[in-house]
Amino acid sequence: DEVRELLASRIHDVPDYPKPGVMFKDITPLLADPKAFSVLTDALAGICEARGATKVVGLEARGFILAAPVAVRAGVGFVPVRKAGKLPGATLSQGYDLEYGSAEIEVHAEDLGEGDRVLVIDDVLATGGTAEASLTLIRRAGAGIAGAAVLLELGFLGGRRRLEQALAGAPLEAL
Ligand code: IMP
Repeated sequence: DEVRELLASRIHDVPDYPKPGVMFKDITPLLADPKAFSVLTDALAGICEARGATKVVGLEARGFILAAPVAVRAGVGFVPVRKAGKLPGATLSQGYDLEYGSAEIEVHAEDLGEGDRVLVIDDVLATGGTAEASLTLIRRAGAGIAGAAVLLELGFLGGRRRLEQALAGAPLEAL
């Protein structure tokens, strides 16, 4: 539909970035277009409300940019999931495997609790490793999962299947 077309037209393909053979999806043209950014924020806020979320979690770094205005528009809290070592307070950490090596992400334990239902927001779902680890972190913090929402899903990488278990029936929506 119209929204999809507008959003798709503002995502640019950058070949061989960050390394040869990779087609990078660049969302900065979308962020620079106030109409497209607003339409995206509305769509994500609509998902947030439809799922009854009490908090949105944004994944570093582009997930922050998308999730923060959604939190304001939907009237819910914003919680950052960050790469290890960036949060000053008491954190929960979760490691996960990358194609080569591993990574670790963290959340402030006090930002999420038993009364929360959390919508995870990121720009791109690729292999699903980051989102899967985030969902695990949210559960370990005692909160419930309202779902996950991304601007773009790279379907051929199988991220949706990887998230199935961690979502436990909650929806993954890709705009
Ligand atoms: P995953 O853990 O493999 O799903 O990778 C997802 C993370 O990598 C997200 O936080 C994305 O921001 C980032 N990412 C992967 N591919 C792209 C891309 O083509 N464009 C922008 N971000 C990407």
